[in-house]
Amino acid sequence: MLAALFEELRPTGGRVASPLHDAERLAQALGVDPAWGRLLVKGDHNLPVGGSIKARGGLYAVLEVAERVAEAAGLLDAGDYGVLASATARRTFGRHRVVVGSTGNLGLSVGTMSAALGFATTVHMSSQARAWKKERLRAHGADVVEHDGDYELALAAGREASLGDPRSFFIDDENSLVLLYGYATAAAELADQLRRAGVLVDERHPLFVHLPCGVGGAPTGIALGLHQRYGRSVHCLFAEPVEAPTVLAQLLAPEGTHPTVYDLGLTASTEADGLAVPRASMAAAKIARHVADGFFTMTDAALLRYVHLAATTGDFKLEPSAAAGFSGPAMLGATAAGTAYLEHSGTAASLTQATHVVWTTGGRLVPPDEHAAWVERGRLGPPPSGADHPQEGAPR
Ligand SMILES: *Cc1c(COP(=O)(O)O)cnc(C)c1O
Repeated sequence: MLAALFEELRPTGGRVASPLHDAERLAQALGVDPAWGRLLVKGDHNLPVGGSIKARGGLYAVLEVAERVAEAAGLLDAGDYGVLASATARRTFGRHRVVVGSTGNLGLSVGTMSAALGFATTVHMSSQARAWKKERLRAHGADVVEHDGDYELALAAGREASLGDPRSFFIDDENSLVLLYGYATAAAELADQLRRAGVLVDERHPLFVHLPCGVGGAPTGIALGLHQRYGRSVHCLFAEPVEAPTVLAQLLAPEGTHPTVYDLGLTASTEADGLAVPRASMAAAKIARHVADGFFTMTDAALLRYVHLAATTGDFKLEPSAAAGFSGPAMLGATAAGTAYLEHSGTAASLTQATHVVWTTGGRLVPPDEHAAWVERGRLGPPPSGADHPQEGAPR
């Protein structure tokens, strides 16, 4: 069905998947010491359809709505899901609306999928959302509503507009297990790729996965899937901007509270617009408590430096959010907090045999001139390898 809807999915038979890259040159440029293990890149920055990791969760969430609507209309009685791409299904979907709030990337994935199936679509965008994302969505036939405020405001407006309309479905990034399940499927994909690449993962060959984190749905879903697969041999580290450590703040907060980063005197404002959110998804945070093994933060200057290095030595086209994971190996290998983590988790002795997977999460659809501007700004960044990160006060 997906292959029928999207030409770019024909080569994979409809599967939304990304390659796993060996990134030796980039590792060298980043100052990743080979004694810390081997560096691989999971290339979700190049995912088809949505152009970001949201193509996993967002597409899945829209398909779940489509399934419910089609089931209620009796379209799935024969059990053939290909029918979801038919003209009959299109007419049925056209009487329903999919609504989503977004800083940009979730809107792009949800809006593209939902419009392709024939749903009426409204995307509420926050002030951080880039103009090209709005234009692209409008070209797909989605209604884009622009809001002056932050991401929470856009989300609240979407939720409000959708409430009380039984023909409207709100995809709720602040509280959705469905999105999280869509992300979780990536774990099986990665496990398969590691196996085919002959990468061992066991107690003496730990796997460290470095995951950019916004509201927490994507990293938590992936971490959930990976822990089911690898148990204690996998270590999922969440990468958050200095000004927007939402899931960390949630896990450190007293039971029953749901703080914003504003409450901590932070701004939630960062070049990483995909991560520029003031507070965690509660649904994600409840699970993250069990599957997030550690957290680190990074500055915008570091992100731009990584975007630059990824473009010049790895040929990866990344947006700043997508590069957040690159701090991870050095945070583990070269900071006091990292050493403490390695000792605490019993992995200090096996670090040399470790594999690091840095998950890159978006960039494919970014206009070339915007990407070039980031690459230029990152040309003279701070030294790579995490040396710009405070060693004291790093979260434990
Ligand atoms: C949304 C997003 C993330 C993080 O996903 P959350 O579910 O918000 O934690 C990471 N990178 C990019 C590029 C994103 O758009």
